[in-house]
Order: sequence, then C-alpha cells, then structure tokens
Amino acid sequence: MIGILGFIGLILGRRFLPPRTALWLGALWLALLVFVHSPLIMQPNPVSGFLGGSFIGWLILVILSVPVAGYRLGLQVLRRKLAVPLPVSTPSTSFAEVELDRYARHIMLREIGGAGQKKLRAARVLVVGAGGLGSSALLYLAASGVGQIGVIDADIVENSNLQRQVIHTDERIGMPKVHSAVEAMRALNPFITGLAYQRRLDDRTAALLDEYDLILDGTDNFDTRYLVNRLCVAAGKPLISAAITQWEGQISLYDPASGGPCFECVFPTRPAPGLVPSCAEAGVAAPLPGVLGAMMAMEAVKYLTGAGQGLRGRLMIYDGLYAEVRVIAAKPRVDCPVCSARATPPAASKAL
Ligand SMILES: [Zn+2]
Repeated sequence: MIGILGFIGLILGRRFLPPRTALWLGALWLALLVFVHSPLIMQPNPVSGFLGGSFIGWLILVILSVPVAGYRLGLQVLRRKLAVPLPVSTPSTSFAEVELDRYARHIMLREIGGAGQKKLRAARVLVVGAGGLGSSALLYLAASGVGQIGVIDADIVENSNLQRQVIHTDERIGMPKVHSAVEAMRALNPFITGLAYQRRLDDRTAALLDEYDLILDGTDNFDTRYLVNRLCVAAGKPLISAAITQWEGQISLYDPASGGPCFECVFPTRPAPGLVPSCAEAGVAAPLPGVLGAMMAMEAVKYLTGAGQGLRGRLMIYDGLYAEVRVIAAKPRVDCPVCSARATPPAASKAL
C-alpha cells in the first residue's frame, strides 16, 4: 500500500519537480520495491511488509514500464533530432513595417543595410547648439533614424535666426531653441526620441555627455568650441565639430580616445578676441550652415554605422564662394594640453 502511495505522491508532486527528476525518483522507487521483495533477500521481511505488494506484482509493473519509458525516451531523441532551430526572437530590435518603408533607401545601401539602421536606432547623439549648423544636423540625424537625439542650447528663437536656422519657424519666435528643434524633429520622424536641454554646456552640466555616444558641436564661438572639446576629451567621447564664417566652413572628427587629434591639437592657438569675426559680425551665406550641418550629420551616420572613411585625423575645408573642398591631414600633438595629458600615464605609473 505504501508502495502505491509513493507513486501517487510522485504523480501529485511532479508539478513541483523537474520532469527528469520525477522520472528518476519513480524509477528508483520501483527498483527499491522490487529489491525489498526480491527472493534474493530474506522473505518476508519488515520492510517488504511495510511497503506492501509482491515481487511478481512489482516485476510486472517494471515490465510494463520499460516499453512506456523506452517510447518516451525514443520520442524525445526523435524530437531533438528533428528540431529546427527557432529564429532568434528580437522583437525589441526589429523594425515595424512603416519604419522599414521609411528607412528603405538606407537599408538598401550596402554600407548601412538593416544592421546599420539598427545601429543608428540604438545610437545616442548630443548636438551642442541649435543654430545654423545644428538646424540641418539635427534634421538629418532625425531623418536618418538616430534613436536618441539630445540638443543643448540656452537661447530662444529670434527673427534674425531664421535666415539660416531652418529648424525653427517664424511662429516659434520667442520659444526656446531646444524646444523648437525637438518639435521639428518629432514632426519629421516620430520614431526617434528628441531631448531638449535649455542650458549651456559647461563643467557643471558635463555629466550629460556620459549619456551619449557621439557629440556634435555646432556652436558659434571659439570659447565654447574649446570648452566642448575639453569636456569631450575628459569624457572620452568622440566629437564632430564644425565652424563657419561668411562663405567658408571646416569640419573634422576629433577622437583622441581612438588615436586621433583633439580640436586643440589642430587649433592650438586661440585667435585673439575680435580677430575672427562671428557670423553676427561678419555675415554668413544662408546655405553654408546647411551644407556644413548636413556634413556633420553625414559624418555622424558614417561613424555610427562604420561606413566609409570618417574625418578622424583629417580636416575638411569647404569654400562655398569658389566651390572648392580641401582635406588636410591633422595629427595629435604630443604637447597638447588637453589630450596628451590623458594619453600620458602619471609619473608614479611610469616609475613602476
Ligand atoms: Zn589634443
């Protein structure tokens, strides 16, 4: 009787046990029952009397169980052999039909493809400055499907901005530029996340850089450009920086963490105040920030997808007035006060 109760207990308890364990416990229990009733040991004995049943009875159960167990085992082996590996389920990384359609012309490019488009969607890019360069850079980053685009700027939209800062509109005059920019990006591509930071990037707000993979600097003054470079080097973040004046612009990827120069390696001497006039002082052709801003977005897409050759260690200069483009080599400077200190181990480490 106890022998039978043992099987009933196993059947009831199998939901709490792994199937394989329940099967092995059942087999062991049956083997024990057969053994204690076996004519090989003294019969009757107190244990066999307590468990109940007879040697023949339990032996018949063994004989009946063997084909059942063999059938189940064979079935498992067959299932394992015939099993087709399931495709890796990637619901969180797959694109909806409407996104596939939106990005189709990216996906058909050999250098980007579906894998590159996924990299773009996973990427986080921070654009410093929502002015002329930022306008086209932000719009093309959003159109390209960069998943998270942050924009940091403390200014508000003014009437005089609209000649070249095409991300803003006449009716958004007076609105913080970052909010206007995020509104425009969301209107263009609702599948991306636009984040607005209405403040200046400085030492107090530098922790923001940690939340991004790539920084784009489209600010319009030297002080900020040097500052953004220093903060990016300190944070180990790659920086695409562009600058424009009148008819000419330049752009490069500054990435000392990967062996390239930083901005200060290439421009070690700050121009004296007033020597290089700003756009407000010297003027700027309206499409120029559009051209350079689009180049920033282009270099960002290349950097994030690994397509082509980027501008690390190369400075591209665009002369809009004579329609000329030049690319010159840029190397890290061993005496750069910003990035060489980072690359050089501390004296104590050298001694070791
Ligand atoms: Zn440097």
